Amino acid sequence: MSVRVVARIRPLLKLELDKDTIVEAATAGSETIGSPTIVRIPNPKNEAEAFSFQFNSVYDQKATQQQIFDNEVAPTVKHLFNGFDVTLFAYGVTGTGKTHTMRGGKTLAERGVIPRLLSAIYRRSRKTEKDMSGETQVEVTMSYYEIYNDRVYDLFESPEKRTPAGLPIRDNGGKTVVVGLTERPCTTLKEFEQLYDQANVNRSTSATKLNAHSSRSHAILCVKVVQSTGDQTRISTASAIDLAGSEDNRRTDNGKERLVESASINKSLFVLAQCVEAISRKQARIPYRESKMTRILSLGQNNGITIMVLNLAPVRSYHLDTLSSLNFANRTKKIEVNEVENEPFFRTASKTMASSATIASGLTLERQPLRP
Ligand code: ADP
Ligand code: MG
Repeated sequence: MSVRVVARIRPLLKLELDKDTIVEAATAGSETIGSPTIVRIPNPKNEAEAFSFQFNSVYDQKATQQQIFDNEVAPTVKHLFNGFDVTLFAYGVTGTGKTHTMRGGKTLAERGVIPRLLSAIYRRSRKTEKDMSGETQVEVTMSYYEIYNDRVYDLFESPEKRTPAGLPIRDNGGKTVVVGLTERPCTTLKEFEQLYDQANVNRSTSATKLNAHSSRSHAILCVKVVQSTGDQTRISTASAIDLAGSEDNRRTDNGKERLVESASINKSLFVLAQCVEAISRKQARIPYRESKMTRILSLGQNNGITIMVLNLAPVRSYHLDTLSSLNFANRTKKIEVNEVENEPFFRTASKTMASSATIASGLTLERQPLRP
């Protein structure tokens, strides 16, 4: 069981081009070469100071969809075909690029990790079948659902046909299953994309009905890979989850409905953080049963691989929400204290004021020279 937590800072949007960038990717310690593993952000209470958070990897504004896929997701496909489950999460405030990272845009270059993953799965399926000279058959099926207010809704069902109470979940030999969830075979990438697009229309239809409901539900795509050789079958699942926005809804709206929503979002994100942390610390007990989402995903039950992408916006209007995202993921990341070097006092003339102090494992507080 392993987990990687990576941060991705999105570029400025057209309307933000005149705004300050306050969130930056940096390399650890005093290194200026190598790939960034640090996210640096000013302390909102004292902008002369910056907080640094360390992750397995950090992608800056220039990172492409291809790079994210090649570095983070492509290496997991091999494990999937070896029978391990792969789970990808996009976590972050609404507007930070979760859907862009997962689903992406229409052009080839803009495609997100989901269509790229499916493409890699089909490629490997063909190769496996060829290498085994037809002895092994690979079948791919998908299900796609959302969890809203702790209820499960099938995204293959149009919103009008849904039962408001959602689909029941049940224990089935130690595994939690959603009863009545549609599972669609999809044999080609084209077929997958048709089904996926159609289901996403159902998601956005309910979004218009329920006022940006999509930012307050978790969308969970499960792709099952079944490899059969004679009477033996090997089943593994790749799950990709576009999580509900992590913003504190209570700050903007005190309506009762919103409070119910934010309570269930907070609970499931909190349990998710605890599960990811327990996995990264290789703890025996993973509290996955404590929320519906982690329970259905059996998070941490198998020898799976989990990757969490923390999506961040670089601009000041997200400052406090970005910090709370970073704090959330900081608890969940693998803590490698030694990789964060404290900068010595008065290191160079130009950094006369530079100093840093470790205030939590992996988290350093730096004093930057005051700007004139
Ligand atoms: P979220 O799903 O977290 O609410 P979106 O994925 O919808 O956020 O992204 C918000 C906006 O930012 C969209 O217009 C999206 O196209 C744009 N965007 C996000 N990430 C990137 C990126 N890496 N490159 C270009 N545009 C991006
Ligand atoms: Mg989104």
